Amino acid sequence: MVDFPPLREELRGIAPYGAPQLDVPVQLNVNENPYGPSPACVDDIASSVVEAARTLNRYPDREFVALRAALADYLSRDARVTPEMVWAANGSNEVMLQLLQAFGGPGRTAVSFAPTYSMYPEYARDTSTRWVTGRREDDFSIDLEAARVLVAEERPSVVLLPSPNNPTGTALAPEVVTTLCEAVGESGVVVVDEAYGEFRRSGTPSALEQLSAYRNLVVTRTMSKAFAGAGLRLGYLAADPAICDAIRVVRLPYHLSAVTQAAALAALRHAPELLGKVDELRAERDRTVAWLRGEGFEVADSDANFCLFGTFGDRHAVWQGLLDRGVLIRETGPDGWLRVSIGTADEMAAFQDALLHVMKEMP
Ligand SMILES: *Cc1c(COP(=O)(O)O)cnc(C)c1O
Repeated sequence: MVDFPPLREELRGIAPYGAPQLDVPVQLNVNENPYGPSPACVDDIASSVVEAARTLNRYPDREFVALRAALADYLSRDARVTPEMVWAANGSNEVMLQLLQAFGGPGRTAVSFAPTYSMYPEYARDTSTRWVTGRREDDFSIDLEAARVLVAEERPSVVLLPSPNNPTGTALAPEVVTTLCEAVGESGVVVVDEAYGEFRRSGTPSALEQLSAYRNLVVTRTMSKAFAGAGLRLGYLAADPAICDAIRVVRLPYHLSAVTQAAALAALRHAPELLGKVDELRAERDRTVAWLRGEGFEVADSDANFCLFGTFGDRHAVWQGLLDRGVLIRETGPDGWLRVSIGTADEMAAFQDALLHVMKEMP
């Protein structure tokens, strides 16, 4: 008997990644931005896509020159970034997969520190890269000496770290980035995944500021979270131009559609108004953390648009109790913890109300 379909051995029996997409009133489970783009932004996207549609018989600009310039301009709020330092793809997940395709592979190792984003081991698996994780400290930070030792032992060609970390919300200390870039050296790249970078608290630096010091540093960003563009599928990175050149070797031809390029450019023109909502969400995040702590929960410090709280003897029962009251959060992270995304003030009030009810009914 042969198994059909003839899947690679290591992929047999594996369920595809993804949180449940349930139709409930309050959805606080996948760290989306609760605010849609403004009517002005929607109109701009629509007319830009109409324009792009007129020439859909042609392949799109393979080098997405205009988009790279706009992204570089946007990143230059944090550090000097030029268009040759920018690469983009269909979501930062695709960007990171391309990084593993280019810099990982058979006989090579990728490293991260757990608990962390559950997609990372999948990029490693799909590119036949060996996957190794170190441990974070009890406060979810990374110990410098432990990082140095792990790199010395494993000699990774890719280090992959979110800052802020998902699911804990923990930002990376700049010393950790420095230590890793120096320990890895030029035989590897250090990828700092700043999917939630725009939500960081004031005083928390971006790894973009360290780009000029380290040729092996890559900082990824996305339009999925701060830009309210999860449906747009546009992620990008900033790094040494030689790294962008290397990725060109593995990317599919014309991977960014003309429609995606047009819509992303239009959304970037509305950056100031979209980022205004980010400030509201950061304030709501701080209020949520304070409220949870006031109610006696443990909450990890968060620089993101979500927070990890606990701890529960039976977290699944709490998750289910909330769902029964129409509030969907995420059962993820270390045992006993739950993660809630930051929604509108009304959604957070519904979450708080539901949580208090659930806790009252717990045995
Ligand atoms: C949400 C998220 C992303 C973004 O993925 P996209 O493919 O850009 O939507 C990247 N990294 C982490 C850790 C995330 O949580």
